[in-house]
Amino acid sequence: MDKYRELLKDKKRIVVKIGSSSITHECTGSINYRKLEKLVRILCDIKNQGKDVVLVSSGAIAVGRQTVGLNHRPDNLAQKQACAAIGQCRLMMTYQKLFSEYNQMAAQVLMTKYSMFNEEHIRNARNTFAELFKLGAIPVVNENDTVSTYEIEFGDNDRLSALVSALVGADLLILLSDIDGLFTDDPNVNPDARFIELVPCIDDKFKAMAKGSAGGLGTGGMTAKLAAAAIATAAGADMVIANSKDIDVISRTVDGENIGTLFLAHHDEDFNIHDYLD
Ligand code: GLU
Repeated sequence: MDKYRELLKDKKRIVVKIGSSSITHECTGSINYRKLEKLVRILCDIKNQGKDVVLVSSGAIAVGRQTVGLNHRPDNLAQKQACAAIGQCRLMMTYQKLFSEYNQMAAQVLMTKYSMFNEEHIRNARNTFAELFKLGAIPVVNENDTVSTYEIEFGDNDRLSALVSALVGADLLILLSDIDGLFTDDPNVNPDARFIELVPCIDDKFKAMAKGSAGGLGTGGMTAKLAAAAIATAAGADMVIANSKDIDVISRTVDGENIGTLFLAHHDEDFNIHDYLD
């Protein structure tokens, strides 16, 4: 086993990010219960190994939209926020039910940029997460889309999950995507695109490889994922991008299997969350 992959087995605090398109059926937009069930079971299993787990889950708007029977993306802010309010509630109800089946406590954490606005806010948010870990809960994080407007939104949950990783001092972030990881070019367009297994340091060469590749429901393409990797790795966490098609990639990654693209942490001494908020 690759030495860097071997080290993933020892990670103690793991953040997993899943997007809207991974937890809903493409044809209807409804929740994919089989996938969600498997996701929760795997997270509970990682928790049972004595590790701290955080789930950053999108889906509020997608689920809300489906619930109210809207067959297009919300076209104004109020509609988007209303969909998020309805969807977040339904999504959380489902998570809550599934986590409790495995005897775990889910805790909802909704964040806006204000949660990280100044040192006091950061301290408060950190303390809340620390207490949740102490209590043995599994925080389920999303952006607070119901009140987030342009000025205070994170933009996408890839970035949010990287900031959360920095906030909680995670040592591994697993970003689930609709693609296997980073390729030298967009594999949907270029058949010669080669898969990248390891990114020791995010330089211009790797940035140039990132092309938009997300499906219709989510917001983050490969560029957003690379931006997230820059934050997570500078904060001291390794990050893996893996394909959510088979949700088992989470346990396989944690078991040190060579799967997805691994970005190595390089812990920047001067790391400051504020530098990444715009
Ligand atoms: N927070 C949004 C939602 O839950 C999704 C944002 C994203 O997927 O990046 O619908």
